Amino acid sequence: MGLPIALAWLPAMAAAQLPVIDAHSQFDHTISPQHLVKTLREADVQRVLLATRGRAELQTLTGLARQHPGCVVPMVRSKSNAYTQGTKGYYRQLEEQLAEPEFKAMAELILTHNQKGNRADEVYLPAAAPQVQAAVGAAKARQWPVVLHYEFRWIAQELGAAELQAKLAELRSVLRSLAPLPVGLTHVAQLDAVQARALLQEHPNLFLLLSHANSLINDGSKQPWTNVVESGVIGAEWVALMQQYPRQFVLALDNVFPEHWSSLYAQQVALWRQALGALGPELARAIAHDNAVRIYRLEPAAQGCSGSVN
Ligand SMILES: [Zn+2]
Repeated sequence: MGLPIALAWLPAMAAAQLPVIDAHSQFDHTISPQHLVKTLREADVQRVLLATRGRAELQTLTGLARQHPGCVVPMVRSKSNAYTQGTKGYYRQLEEQLAEPEFKAMAELILTHNQKGNRADEVYLPAAAPQVQAAVGAAKARQWPVVLHYEFRWIAQELGAAELQAKLAELRSVLRSLAPLPVGLTHVAQLDAVQARALLQEHPNLFLLLSHANSLINDGSKQPWTNVVESGVIGAEWVALMQQYPRQFVLALDNVFPEHWSSLYAQQVALWRQALGALGPELARAIAHDNAVRIYRLEPAAQGCSGSVN
């Protein structure tokens, strides 16, 4: 027997009304624009901040933004072997994207990244590396937030406590030097709630992107991601942080690999709608939508992904 009707029905209705911006996702050359938009519509997402990866073309992304205004917001990509190695091709790719008026944000900058099978290589760059600084400088000049990818739990496990402290110190110095420019951490940087609290209370320009931070996407993963949502519910220590720092959490899915552009996307969005909905309508709306609009200075959109014309 199922739940009493009132209990089953009420949370679902409230959750369905929550507008969602996916503040960070990526697609490669194997994902067609049609499939991408279909996936966004099935999840009933209002907007996505999107970057290319792999061999996806810049023109595919700018085309998507022109065809689906108010739905697809292009982000400048840095991730590539050229970025890791700091070769000329990286700077050329950066300039090419920055010259296009459709680009409105800077995608994540990888600073520390464990190897992900044979599909993503290890990266270990200091924040002061020239290729990082080039992208940070471009973002700063445009008043775009800077988003950093650190994997702190991996650093602690693989390289030890001293290296973890060194990298946290590096992050704090970036946060101080860029303030008041917002600085985001994708995948909550694998922080635990205690570490996150220490950073949030010290740095009002810090925001945490909730990508790859739920047990639905992380189950079976070999990476030590943080599950803010476990079995459909936000952990009590994270709820407390969200209530105390309501402007510093931003929902993102961060699709990376082709399998992320599947029914898994709508399932994750539904999971977040339900989990955030339990925090009350105001806080849920801030984290799912409004914080992204403010932090990324997004223009008002008349229609989301479902309303745009194909
Ligand atoms: Zn990432």
